[in-house]
Amino acid sequence: MFKKILIANRGEIALRIQRACRELGIATVAVHSTADTDAMHVRLADESVCIGPPPARDSYLNMPSILSAALITGAEAIHPGYGFLSENADFAEMVEAHNLVFIGPTAAHIRMMGDKITAKTTMAGLGVPLVPGSAGEIGTVAEARETAARIKYPVLIKAAAGGGGRGMKVAQNESELEAAFMEARAEAGAAFGNNAVYMEKYLDKPRHIELQILADTQGEVVHIGERDCSLQRRHQKLLEEAGSPIISAAQRDALGKTVTSALKQIGYRNAGTLEFLYQDEQFSFIEMNTRLQVEHPVSEMISGIDLVHEQIRIAAGEPLGYTQADIHFSGHAIECRITAEDPETFAPSPGRVDVFHPPGGLGVRVDSALFAGYRVPPHYDSLIAKLITHGRTREEAVARMRRALREFVITGIKTTIPLHERILADPQFMAGDYTIHWLERFVAET
Ligand code: ADP
Repeated sequence: MFKKILIANRGEIALRIQRACRELGIATVAVHSTADTDAMHVRLADESVCIGPPPARDSYLNMPSILSAALITGAEAIHPGYGFLSENADFAEMVEAHNLVFIGPTAAHIRMMGDKITAKTTMAGLGVPLVPGSAGEIGTVAEARETAARIKYPVLIKAAAGGGGRGMKVAQNESELEAAFMEARAEAGAAFGNNAVYMEKYLDKPRHIELQILADTQGEVVHIGERDCSLQRRHQKLLEEAGSPIISAAQRDALGKTVTSALKQIGYRNAGTLEFLYQDEQFSFIEMNTRLQVEHPVSEMISGIDLVHEQIRIAAGEPLGYTQADIHFSGHAIECRITAEDPETFAPSPGRVDVFHPPGGLGVRVDSALFAGYRVPPHYDSLIAKLITHGRTREEAVARMRRALREFVITGIKTTIPLHERILADPQFMAGDYTIHWLERFVAET
């Protein structure tokens, strides 16, 4: 097992990884920008290294600085968290070239899944079902027209290098197609430095269901159940549940068999998530994330498995030591992503936190790096806390979430807590009756 790990991230996820390291008896090295000198992930780490000025490209994305920090401090492995360098294959390669361990999949797998066209062709070849769409990249408007005529409108143009819901444009009919195609290409080029796009049928009432997997280096692959992440705004997740209120154990088992067999065939290792759209009782693969997800705690709460422990153990070469038959799910978990934003306009609300009082009690988990007096910097993602509740049933988890949201006090900045309270009070949410388009309408109408 490693003696020291460098955590190449900030905020709640850096703390989350530190917690796992400490439980495993591993020392931690934090890295930080000059904007984060007083941050909690720096205060709680065993050692810390400043890696640059506030803009992420000069600090949290600065590969030479991070590698130097690891070498100077004698860290043996690097955990990238999510975002930043977590899906950067070049970084994973550089880490290994310096005789350090990258806590994640191989660079080749990161690259394979980072290109969504390659990811889809690979998965299709392994028997995983896809959303109807183009066979590969769409290079011209004429090709876009042909494919749309075949799969029928509405269609969605998506960036091959896409992420965070960017570079995605819908065309309801042929008259909208050319503009959607040009805009998606331009946005993809600007955001990802790669303007390759492809096309999918735009589904009108899907749910976003994803499957968490773990794979060791001895060839064992297991799934840790599904998460329902259908509550989204601008294709970004806001609230997640495990399990999905509409998926049966038989459906989960069947999807799990397809997915784990596919990943065994490509020799995947470490943690990963396969994302699907689910409509008319069909799962269709849309992408794979080759890292820890923001919403991983809901899977931990229903399985009792610490996913970060497992990532570290796998990276150290240990076998999982259990099989699918040993994994049992208990109860239901919900996560609310709380951001420093106006709950009505979603305008960013950085600044000083005056009071921070997190909720507690049975079945309540708060993953946050906030404290009273902390100044939320304007330079990074607006996520400030994840509130997770667990109950024996979905009703119990919902009731617990409602009371935990009421108890949660954060003053000085605006947060999305009031929005979550409104969602948790809605009868349609209560009934579990929602699709990926539901929240957008809910926000507009209430
Ligand atoms: P990103 O990598 O940018 O997050 P994804 O491919 O994971 O992009 O899609 C993000 C979200 O966009 C999905 O969760 C879903 O809400 C929506 N979406 C993606 N593909 C489709 C589709 N074919 N039809 C309808 N909605 C889609």
